[in-house]
Amino acid sequence: MTIFKDKLDLTTSKRLEIIDITSKVQNTITNSEIANGIVNIYSKHSTSAIVINENEQGLLVDFEIFLKEIVPQNNNYKHDIIDNNADSHIRSLLLQSSETIPFRDKKLAIGTWQSIFFIELDGPRRRNVQLTIIGE
Ligand code: ZN
Repeated sequence: MTIFKDKLDLTTSKRLEIIDITSKVQNTITNSEIANGIVNIYSKHSTSAIVINENEQGLLVDFEIFLKEIVPQNNNYKHDIIDNNADSHIRSLLLQSSETIPFRDKKLAIGTWQSIFFIELDGPRRRNVQLTIIGE
């Protein structure tokens, strides 16, 4: 068993932004010299998320509208007194900070309509995503 570590440095451009990182994750697997295993994709931030879903432009807009509707901004949150980003934290609470995905023969074993996304919930800023590959 071998462990390969890498990171993605992302620069986001909007407060709420959904970024497809599938090709970046695939590139890391390609460069890892591990043929079969799992990759864990972990975001080191409390106002972001990692999700798997379909990369369809209309659907990505639907996701943004949904997150803004179920967790409105400026809703008299306690945390806004010190940081003014409580909505970003609460949106992150509903999602997750990591995904773990299998790969076979150096190819991500995801479905045809699945992509891996980094979701920025309090941008724009620089973000760091840790990739840990375990396999052989
Ligand atoms: Zn905060």
